[in-house]
Amino acid sequence: MKDVLVIGAGGVSSVAVHKMAKNPELFGKITLASRRQFKCDAIAESVKQRFGVTIDTAQVDADDVAATSKLIEQVKPNLLVNLALPYQDLNLMDACLNTGTDYLDTANYEPRDEARFHYGWQWDYQDRFKNAGLMALLGSGFDPGVTSVFAMYIKKHLLDTIRTLDILDCNGGDHGQHFATNFNPEINIREITAPARHWENGEWVETPALSTRQVFEFDQVGAKNMYLMYHEELESLAKFIPEMERARFWMTFGEQYLTHLRVLQNVGMTSIEPIMFEGREIVPLQFLKAVLPEPSTLGTTTKGKTNIGDIATGMKDGEEKTFYVYNVCDHEDAFEETGNQAVSYTTGVPAMIGAALMLNGTWRGEGVFNMEQFDPDPFMDMLNQHGLPWQVHELDGPLKF
Ligand code: NDP
Repeated sequence: MKDVLVIGAGGVSSVAVHKMAKNPELFGKITLASRRQFKCDAIAESVKQRFGVTIDTAQVDADDVAATSKLIEQVKPNLLVNLALPYQDLNLMDACLNTGTDYLDTANYEPRDEARFHYGWQWDYQDRFKNAGLMALLGSGFDPGVTSVFAMYIKKHLLDTIRTLDILDCNGGDHGQHFATNFNPEINIREITAPARHWENGEWVETPALSTRQVFEFDQVGAKNMYLMYHEELESLAKFIPEMERARFWMTFGEQYLTHLRVLQNVGMTSIEPIMFEGREIVPLQFLKAVLPEPSTLGTTTKGKTNIGDIATGMKDGEEKTFYVYNVCDHEDAFEETGNQAVSYTTGVPAMIGAALMLNGTWRGEGVFNMEQFDPDPFMDMLNQHGLPWQVHELDGPLKF
């Protein structure tokens, strides 16, 4: 009852599959399928060399529901782990419903022609999963994923109510390239160039992309510029922690990255509107992705650390308190263990943990679930055991911005 079918063979998948293979007490047969089988075979080879575990590989186009359903029928996994792209989420959920299989992903559905991160499309599957007696777990990466688990841990153990929540995502790593993204460039650039949105007094407040900046001193990384952004866990956090007055998400970017991004935006290279080029339609952002380094190739050169965490202010026993929970992950350590840099590592490990908790029944339910709906403690314990240790600090007071 522990077999998994993992879809997608990028950096996140590579980490998750290495970690699954490293923990045979948690996972039985592992099958890895993606659009291009040679990428699955390369991961399988690395897993074999590092841990002596054999995994099966297959080719599948996850946009083709019938083909994916057929593969699931052949493999008969207990759980499908979707580590392809957000575009595939609904098709893979349909294939799971067709075949009576549980589902997990790390990013919410996004239509190709509209850069809009929104859980609604997947929440609409609630009745179908519930009626079929199946479970879907959404967003089991780091952010979304661990950041929601951190918030629920704070709410369970440290504060009675949360008034404000800030999620701070810092990548202090340097890959030595002029311009590259640490996960899928198309998804990454769509996310960063979208207007910023945060939750305040019961409504969404929108501001222009990258227009609000603060400097923050990150443990083991140093002072960095971070920018207010929209990020998908804000939607589920606002739903499941209804007392919150304000929830914001911040991400750090270096000057060089932003200068390149600005130029690319100014010349139209980040657009998702199709254009005609030499008689055929192309999407500029997809062309840009094709010329940028693949994130999975950045591991060999990336040095430095990531630091991602939550700062929450609220009441405890009638007194206002502020807590900061975060993880620091080293790019070179992540690479040594799995052959991938820390951005893939910090996503792939929580995907493995979410899958393990579903397979052993610790996190169980019928329907479509977000991370906030389960007990954070077993997930927090597994983060400590599987390479993403966290720490908690009480701060002197709330953030001053
Ligand atoms: P990559 O682009 O490196 O990998 C995506 C993989 O999916 C590739 O192997 C790709 O195939 C495969 N794929 C794409 N389309 C299809 C398809 N139609 N059928 C089958 N396979 C397909 O991305 P990452 O590994 O960086 O990211 C994976 C996921 O993780 C994304 O959804 C991303 O948004 C999410 N993510 C979540 C984070 C979090 O913290 N929650 C953080 C970072 C990422 P091919 O190799 O042929 O291109």
